[in-house]
Amino acid sequence: MTVFGELLFFGALVALANVAGGWLLTGPRAAAREGRLLRYLIALGAGFMLAAIFIEILPEVVRLWGRDTAQPEPGRAVLGAMTLLLSGYLLIHLFEHTVAPHFHFGAETHTEAMLPPAAAYTAIGGLSIHTFFDGVSVAAAFLVSQKVGLLVFVAILLHKVPEGFTAASIMLASGRTSRQALMATVVVGAATLFGVLSVAALHARVATAVVYALPFSAGVTLYVAASDLIPEVNHMERKNPVISVIVFAGVALFFILHLLIEG
Ligand SMILES: [Zn+2]
Ligand SMILES: [Zn+2]
Repeated sequence: MTVFGELLFFGALVALANVAGGWLLTGPRAAAREGRLLRYLIALGAGFMLAAIFIEILPEVVRLWGRDTAQPEPGRAVLGAMTLLLSGYLLIHLFEHTVAPHFHFGAETHTEAMLPPAAAYTAIGGLSIHTFFDGVSVAAAFLVSQKVGLLVFVAILLHKVPEGFTAASIMLASGRTSRQALMATVVVGAATLFGVLSVAALHARVATAVVYALPFSAGVTLYVAASDLIPEVNHMERKNPVISVIVFAGVALFFILHLLIEG
């Protein structure tokens, strides 16, 4: 498979996982809406993502920045990369506090906060900015190497089903139909694919694009893992203490896959 084919294939898979999450809530077998599986995926995804950021992506970022800057002092060489990482983190913080102020992962149960349909549409808009960078993360990782790509693909994939479920749930809570809710997950999924294609197009023109895209999207992923998913785990833990242990299972799963892929 060519690199472009690879990006398209794995990008389409993560995008489809968004729609699958929406289908869980709106499809004929919506009994799955009690969502124990989704809660476990949120915790597993949080642990896996954190491990992928610190053990896989950041070492690659340091390697790329150390190689491409003539700066002999390692701390200064990665200064630009860390600034991009912080910018990625803060961008999602900004969107989740301006465009979509009431955003959280999981079922939307606070209808009072969601009632105006406009609030649901802006929440989907805000979420689409984040899913665009989910796509950027996957594509940038595959451009570094197939090994990094596969691990980041799994990291992103794990939170994609709960993400689609969240999008559909926001729409239903604001009184939209199941069909509209499913359409929202298609939009969120399409934004992911658009992120993948944007990196592919940029890479075709500027070969060093990945050097900048990787730390920035790592910052976005860090926000999703540490500031969207972990608070949700902390919240769910009150009802189900097992949830917080699943985060460690996510980290363990990362190390197992890492060993398998390193071969
Ligand atoms: Zn809510
Ligand atoms: Zn996401």
